Amino acid sequence: MSKKELGLNTICTHIGEIKDEQFKGAISPIYLSSSYEFLDVDVKRYPRYFNTPNQEYLSKKVAALEHKETAMIFGSGMAAISHMFLAFLKSGDHIVVQNTLYGGTSNFIREEFPKLNIGFTFTDGYAVEDFEKAIQPNTKLIHIETPSNPLLTITDIKAVAQLAQSNYIVTSIDNTFASPVNQNPADFGIDLIMHSATKYFGGHSDICAGAVAGSKEHMDRIWNVSKNYGGSLSDFTVWMLERSMKTMGLRVKAQTKNAKKMAKWLEQHDAVKKVYYPGLKSHPQHELAKAQMKGFGAMLSFELIASIDSVKFQKALKLIKASMSLAGIESTMLSPAQTSHSLLSQAERDAIGISDGLIRFSVGIESVRDLKDDIEQALKQL
Ligand SMILES: *Cc1c(COP(=O)(O)O)cnc(C)c1O
Repeated sequence: MSKKELGLNTICTHIGEIKDEQFKGAISPIYLSSSYEFLDVDVKRYPRYFNTPNQEYLSKKVAALEHKETAMIFGSGMAAISHMFLAFLKSGDHIVVQNTLYGGTSNFIREEFPKLNIGFTFTDGYAVEDFEKAIQPNTKLIHIETPSNPLLTITDIKAVAQLAQSNYIVTSIDNTFASPVNQNPADFGIDLIMHSATKYFGGHSDICAGAVAGSKEHMDRIWNVSKNYGGSLSDFTVWMLERSMKTMGLRVKAQTKNAKKMAKWLEQHDAVKKVYYPGLKSHPQHELAKAQMKGFGAMLSFELIASIDSVKFQKALKLIKASMSLAGIESTMLSPAQTSHSLLSQAERDAIGISDGLIRFSVGIESVRDLKDDIEQALKQL
């Protein structure tokens, strides 16, 4: 059977398993060796070469999930994204990136690229015309992130991929928010699929890791750069990640289902001004999301009415945690104006639609009834 014929949960559970030939155990053994036989072997294994047994086998699972030939596992999402960028951009090159990106990615571009003489353009908007306008003769990479953080705007994956192809430009996507459970950008022509595995891959808020999937040719380019910078993941954590990913299909589907219910409920709530969720009919790009996503994801944002203090609201929650990160099985909320976007001025935040009352909600697997009760009791306290 080919990998593509296997169902999601079968891939999550079985692809990339290492057979325990010695003891016939049910799960992959963990190989912590940092030194391997060197003479007369085909593969020179070394942790920083991203090819220890656990690293190599887990990458097969990521590749199968993202419908790509091969993949690499990194020490963090930022290690994945920075090495991917550096493999396709050298001094004098240019990258086109979507106007809103994960904060760390945006910082990496703004802080590091000027030192390396790599040019960059953040698009004015999310439409394919905005990308087209930003392309320059030396553009080598176009990078997108959809749904976006924190307002869940949708970029047309296929349109951007086609635009890039007709200009001989490589494309990459940060697929962290959707996860391969809800979105497979490879099916729409994207070359490189990147993940912060700290999020849905890990799913239990206890792992920091990253991954990139692509063709053998593209991944060889990334490997050639990455082996020099050294951003591989320790085998113990690789093994933990394999364990986590076995339930990713189940987790993310449950979270996605909950998110849809919560989005609908919040939308009709008196204390809520607006809900941003691609699964809602009211989302301006609902049809586009439907065309390119298998599910609408478990991230949403909502704006409380002006009379409610969003910080006090979050402090009043008992079950839902105010937390920096996202995608764990436990529900968490974050106020972008007070955290991820606090360095921007009020005017800058207003310009990109991040109000003081905006809350980003990473929906977990709890019973929806309990999540609603928690929000109600917090609102009552205020
Ligand atoms: C968290 C995150 C990253 C960065 O990943 P780390 O594992 O924190 O390095 C990149 N992109 C998105 C969308 C993220 O949520």
